[in-house]
Amino acid sequence: MDAVDPRPHWKRSQHESCPAFRLAGHAVLARWLAVWLAAAAIPTPAQPFGLPTANRAIWQDGGENRFFVGPAGRTWEGGLFGCVRTSGQQLHEGIDIRCIQRDRQKEPVDPVLAAAAGTVAYVNRKSSLSNYGQYLILKHRIDDIEVYTLYAHLREIRSSLGPGDAIAQGEKIAVLGRTSNTSQGISRDLAHLHFEIGLLVNDRFPAWYKANYPTQRNDHGVWNGQNLLGLDPRLVFLFQRARGKAFHLRDFIQDQTALCRVLVRDPDFPFVRRYAPLIEPNQTAARLGVAGYEIALNYCGVPIRIIPRAASEFASSAKYRLLSVNAAEQSKNPCRRLVSRNGSRWVLTSAGTRLLDLLTY
Ligand SMILES: [Zn+2]
Repeated sequence: MDAVDPRPHWKRSQHESCPAFRLAGHAVLARWLAVWLAAAAIPTPAQPFGLPTANRAIWQDGGENRFFVGPAGRTWEGGLFGCVRTSGQQLHEGIDIRCIQRDRQKEPVDPVLAAAAGTVAYVNRKSSLSNYGQYLILKHRIDDIEVYTLYAHLREIRSSLGPGDAIAQGEKIAVLGRTSNTSQGISRDLAHLHFEIGLLVNDRFPAWYKANYPTQRNDHGVWNGQNLLGLDPRLVFLFQRARGKAFHLRDFIQDQTALCRVLVRDPDFPFVRRYAPLIEPNQTAARLGVAGYEIALNYCGVPIRIIPRAASEFASSAKYRLLSVNAAEQSKNPCRRLVSRNGSRWVLTSAGTRLLDLLTY
């Protein structure tokens, strides 16, 4: 049965009463509807990195205190990445994202989502083996750069997950929690996801660790936290939002402020092989052969620029030579202590040398 227009006919417009216009009107409407539905059905191209929980307060004005959570007795700033721990003397190599969903016992239940598409690299289900508690590492390839995301203090990791499993962006991989092997633990109120984005330093880490720390245990092989160099996830998200479709991870890495530049006399080591996309061209080295690399490090020790150098470009035979230091950056972000001032000269510290040793091992 046709629907009856309840309006008296004099209230209907002339156009409406014309059957031809009604048909044309419906067609136009139908076309717009089709266009609108099609637009709604096409997902906006996903950015490489998504937020790893349903907490979106990072995008709200003044929402930081609902997104980040600091350690006990500290404000939300303590949950940021960087020199935010132990009065600025200790690096926090990830961000702490506040729990927003709880069960009746007030325990966290927020689903933890894969920030990017990739594969499972490592699963640690034994809380007692790490201050990260139960944690999970995913491996991604973004702009041809091998990059990892780490999810720590998990309450539960999806039972079937194991190394090599393919994971879609946004897929549920775990439940947010407060697991850790530290004596003080994490209180229910401060339950959070510790989230990292990092580069892998060296797949020979276990051998390097054994040679350098013979009496210490390494329960996680290559997936020891020391073997991942963290990028600031908050800055990654902001940079990605600002650049939109033009976001490139390489640009983000190279956009970091350099803390120092170092000449490394070694023509071939795992990091330069793995991170070839970060290497910049140098005609001299291309012509004469690569004898080593000039590496710019940010304050966390991430090699942000790598330039091959020919033997003729090295002034000495030393394995490492500190070329320059950005003093302002060192005083702004001192916690990694890769360089220090010795009188009027800047020198690599033992931490700086240790990082270069691991990079080139
Ligand atoms: Zn943390």
